Amino acid sequence: MISASAVNLARRCLRRAAFKYGSDVVPEPEPESDAIRTGKDGHAILEAYQKEGWSPPQTPLGDLCRKGLPWLPHPGQATAEGLFNVTISGVPYLGYMDLETDNARVFPGTTTLDGCIPGVIDYKFSKDPERYGILTPADFLRDPQALLYAAYTFAKYGTSVVFLRWLKFRTQGKPKIFPVDALLTRQEVVRAFGKVVHPAATALVHIRTKNNDPNSFAPNFEACHDFGRPCPYLGQCDTRSDRGMTLLDEMRALVGPGVAEAAQGPQAINPPVELTKPPTTTHVHYPLRIILEELGSALTRAAARV
Ligand code: SF4
Repeated sequence: MISASAVNLARRCLRRAAFKYGSDVVPEPEPESDAIRTGKDGHAILEAYQKEGWSPPQTPLGDLCRKGLPWLPHPGQATAEGLFNVTISGVPYLGYMDLETDNARVFPGTTTLDGCIPGVIDYKFSKDPERYGILTPADFLRDPQALLYAAYTFAKYGTSVVFLRWLKFRTQGKPKIFPVDALLTRQEVVRAFGKVVHPAATALVHIRTKNNDPNSFAPNFEACHDFGRPCPYLGQCDTRSDRGMTLLDEMRALVGPGVAEAAQGPQAINPPVELTKPPTTTHVHYPLRIILEELGSALTRAAARV
């Protein structure tokens, strides 16, 4: 099963993803940061509110969560922390949604939405939410997590539009909430998914199944100290094994030209993919089987070169 965070990691450093998902190398232990702990506690407070109706506690984090309640539905109006899995173009994905509903009109501020549109809310706890992550509606189409949630929602409900709300909580300085809303169409999500998510997810499937040496994958030395912490595979990462290939070259070698550009981010153009028909189950089929075949033959050629 592929998660949005695995896709993010593969897009950031394919080699680190290979260490994590395709090898037995034990990573250096990573102590839980204050930011991660705050995010987990904040999610737990909001989950208890949605599922049980419990008011946020009288603590600084509880007070911050309380500030977000005007953007949330009443307890019980939406499904909280639901596990989902879906297969898209042969790749199995899974994730947890903070909140989802078949009718986004239960979300405050959405009563003008036409008809019954499904909706998803995700909580983000950040020191500087005005600077990082999704800032505008257009950013949803560049974000693997948002695209996966949207694609799953289309698969589940069979609609042509989905409403997404990223509710961002500022954890440093004066407590503040930044909601970012978007109404996305099936067509734009399908196109963006094919560029942003699918190539990296396909590479992850092969990383998991082929058992290659992680050091044979492209490194990204700019990612070695992301979030101010050393990569847990720094000790095993062979810096001499950089063959001068960029991540784009590596992905191109893996999945073929045209698809690899997605590894470099949403600004790169990739042939769009289309749904052949509206899905009625949690299985979505894009005409991308050929990519898997190209990937398989590329890996065979690579193995023959070694
Ligand atoms: S040390 Fe740097 S290049 Fe090597 S796997 Fe980690 S992030 Fe990637």
